[in-house]
Amino acid sequence: MSDCLFCKIARGEIPANVAYEDDEMLAFHDINPVSPLHVLLIPKKHIASLLDLSRDDEALAGRMLARAGELARRLGYGQNGARFVFNAGRDGGQTVGHLHLHILGGRAHGWPPG
Ligand code: 5GP
Ligand code: ZN
Repeated sequence: MSDCLFCKIARGEIPANVAYEDDEMLAFHDINPVSPLHVLLIPKKHIASLLDLSRDDEALAGRMLARAGELARRLGYGQNGARFVFNAGRDGGQTVGHLHLHILGGRAHGWPPG
C-alpha cells in the first residue's frame, strides 16, 4: 500500500535498522524499543493485521513464526527466552496498520500485559 509506513520500510523508502530480510519478509529494530531487544518482523506484502490474515496467507504466517524463533535464537535469546506479540486492532493496541510481530528480549516480561 502506497501510504503505509511499514510498506515504505519494506520498499526501502524509509530507512530501518534491518535484522533479517528475505524475499517475503523483513525484520527491523523498533524505533522506540521497550526491551533491550525489540525487533519487528513484517511480511513485505501488505496485510493490515492478524485479524485480516486470510487462508491464502497461512503458509506465509507459518514461515514468519519459524523465522521469528530462528532470529531470536540467532540474536542470543534462545536460552533465556523472548516475548512474541501480535497487537491487532484498537483493543489490541495496534498503532501501525501493517501486520507485525514484536520480538522482545533481554528482560523478563510480565503477565498479564498492560
Ligand atoms: P504496534 O503498536 O502497532 O503494535 O507497534 C508499532 C511499532 O512500530 C511500535 O513499537 C513503534 O515504536 C514502531 N514504529 C513506529 N514507527 C516506526 C518507524 O518509523 N520505524 C521503526 N523502526 N519502528 C517504528
Ligand atoms: Zn503496509
